[in-house]
Amino acid sequence: MNRLPTAKNYSHNIIADKSYLLTELQSYGVQLSSDFGAPSRIGGAGPTDHKAMTVLGSTVMVPVHTYSVEGSPFSLGPIQSDGTASLNFINIPVVKVTFPPQPRFYSLRTVDEIPYWKIATLHSTDVLASTVLQTCIRYGNKNTKCQFCAIGESLKSGRTIAKKSPEQLAEVAYAAMKYDGVRQVVLTTGTPTTNDRGASILCDSARAIKDATGLAIQAQCEPPDDFFWFKRLHESGVDSLGMHLEAWNDKVRAKIMPGKAEVPLSYYMDAFKASVKVFGRGQVSTYLLAGLGDTKEELIHASRTLIDLGVYPFVVPFVPVTGTQLENHPAPNTDFMRSVLSPIGAMLAKAGMSSNTVKAGCAKCGACSTLSTFENNHNSCSAF
Ligand code: SF4
Repeated sequence: MNRLPTAKNYSHNIIADKSYLLTELQSYGVQLSSDFGAPSRIGGAGPTDHKAMTVLGSTVMVPVHTYSVEGSPFSLGPIQSDGTASLNFINIPVVKVTFPPQPRFYSLRTVDEIPYWKIATLHSTDVLASTVLQTCIRYGNKNTKCQFCAIGESLKSGRTIAKKSPEQLAEVAYAAMKYDGVRQVVLTTGTPTTNDRGASILCDSARAIKDATGLAIQAQCEPPDDFFWFKRLHESGVDSLGMHLEAWNDKVRAKIMPGKAEVPLSYYMDAFKASVKVFGRGQVSTYLLAGLGDTKEELIHASRTLIDLGVYPFVVPFVPVTGTQLENHPAPNTDFMRSVLSPIGAMLAKAGMSSNTVKAGCAKCGACSTLSTFENNHNSCSAF
């Protein structure tokens, strides 16, 4: 169980320790009334079943549709005419929050009548994200699929298309930059059957977007068979690369993502070393999902190992997404997240690697984890 401060002292203490409130929000989630106005996202890849909220000047993705939210002490009051809403802790207002507006590019369509929002979506406030290939060799079979993944759900429900062409992505990225102030692009992909693991598709997509917009781009894929692809990706306009471990302990990997775990940790390490040589220190990152079984010590050890290689460990609280095998798996509590993020933030600060210096991608956006707030805050972790 999370430690719960009393409602009486909550408002005062969150000002003293913003990272505590943000970490709590990501662990508990927020209850929404059924008639709540601002849009949120259900199903699909990336930060799903979440809502983007700007709290005390930081925009974070907060779970709002997962089962675990039912017991959350946080709720939102109605949206006011100035666009704010009251964030309540056990029905006591603690702070006003705002929400990124519906992007203008969502109302546009391609010449062949595909809505732009089916090609790419706005994440946080200024990130355009697309899953270039919405299918994955591992997804159709429960013996190989990653148990947390919902990549096929939005495709099934018609909320996206199976493959986005470079031309479509460039068109949408240009509009998102022009009308909504998008500053960076995240391109991810399901894993295809080819040995490049999607790198070739990402090269074509990145080149088209870069030519049309000049925006910073992160590409995300599994480690390809030939590390020559790192150079190709970089030459195609990819500024930062994500290769996502998700978990560190071999038993956790084999249980949670049986297909992906067939690629051994040692291969990821080799791929990290080779890619850092191309992209530079701090421009390669990896997701680690806290709460899936890795212990605090394992997550800290993993992060130390990765930082030593020049890789940014983006440690994110696991969110149980509706429709996945882990939809009833508990999210990690605030104390666990803080015990992990605080030392990792300090390690990153000491190594001179920060969310700010990453050129593009999830580590730069930072909305799915409060890790970046600990990079500058590593001496403070005891508000309550
Ligand atoms: S951290 Fe990554 S997945 Fe999360 S909102 Fe930002 S770009 Fe999207």
